[in-house]
Amino acid sequence: MYSISTLGSHCALQVLKGAKDEGFKTMLICEERRINLYKRFRFIDRLIMVKDYKYEHVCSEPVINELKDNNCILVPHGTFIASMSVEQIERIDIPFFGNRYILRWEADRTLKERLMVDAGIRVPRTLTLDDLDNGKGKVLAIAKLHGAAGGKGYFLASGKEQFMQQYNRLLSKGIVNSMDDLYLQEYVIGVPVYLQYFYSPLSKQVELLGIDRRYESDVDAISRIPAIHQAYARLEDITYTVIGNSPLVLRESLLDEAYKMGERFVDSVKRLVKYDMIGPFCIEGVYDRDGNFIAFEFSARIVAGTNLYINGSPYSYLLYDEPMSTGRRIAREIKLAIESNELDKVLT
Ligand code: ADP
Repeated sequence: MYSISTLGSHCALQVLKGAKDEGFKTMLICEERRINLYKRFRFIDRLIMVKDYKYEHVCSEPVINELKDNNCILVPHGTFIASMSVEQIERIDIPFFGNRYILRWEADRTLKERLMVDAGIRVPRTLTLDDLDNGKGKVLAIAKLHGAAGGKGYFLASGKEQFMQQYNRLLSKGIVNSMDDLYLQEYVIGVPVYLQYFYSPLSKQVELLGIDRRYESDVDAISRIPAIHQAYARLEDITYTVIGNSPLVLRESLLDEAYKMGERFVDSVKRLVKYDMIGPFCIEGVYDRDGNFIAFEFSARIVAGTNLYINGSPYSYLLYDEPMSTGRRIAREIKLAIESNELDKVLT
């Protein structure tokens, strides 16, 4: 008998609900301050309390022993990445559903871009300072802080002069020390779309299980006030903090390329990364006015936007005649792998 476990945050409810629906025992590693939330849900069989999600607490001897005694499979999500280093995640002595070695590629901007370019996915142009005022005029750029999570500290600048103003502001606050701390990218005007995929190493098929867009504060908040007030708002430090996700369906004519992009991504992982893609991943970008997709990110594990579809999405319903969340799809893949004696294909 196997059990499925994860950290109490991000998409834990979806993952454990899906695990229970597929007949697994469910165990949640949960920090003290969140116990009250998670004990409301009957599909969680066991709450293992930890002080917080730092490696030393999640991987303390009693926790690891309990997980091992229960034949536990861990499902990684964004909170693992936010609270532990890639090296620590790679060291966790419990089987992971998914390719834990690709998380290193997700965390490193250069590796990340290499994988997307290899997959033939368009990415925004990387810019130098001189590119900001080219012969044709000012170029709108987004400046990203290395290692920033959730777009924290990102800023926009049209042309060099605006960029230098913002840069000097960050310098004086000690947020950056030199130009090397920033990464300049062409700002792509388009609508943000998050494509939620699942790759099954058993069937060797890519499934598109859902699509969402993020609802981010402040960027989605400023369009609610007229431009005259925007000019007076404190916008020099605009944030992209994710507050929630909204559902989205694509024009059907864009779906074929969306599927192909997911398939090329899986092929590139096969070529470049230790172990193949396993399970959920997400390609994140914008569609421009010509319907071209330009990606600025991927997540090589389940994303929180899948929480929209605990009861299935329009796209999962086209593939399954039953409610199929990404969390449940993970548990289904584990179940099928156990039945066919192929667990090694889905665990790392
Ligand atoms: P994080 O992974 O830390 O959340 P992202 O790189 O995904 O950061 O960027 C955060 C937000 O910034 C995105 O959701 C998107 O709205 C916006 N963004 C990032 N890069 C670009 C770009 N090149 N063009 C347009 N918008 C972008």
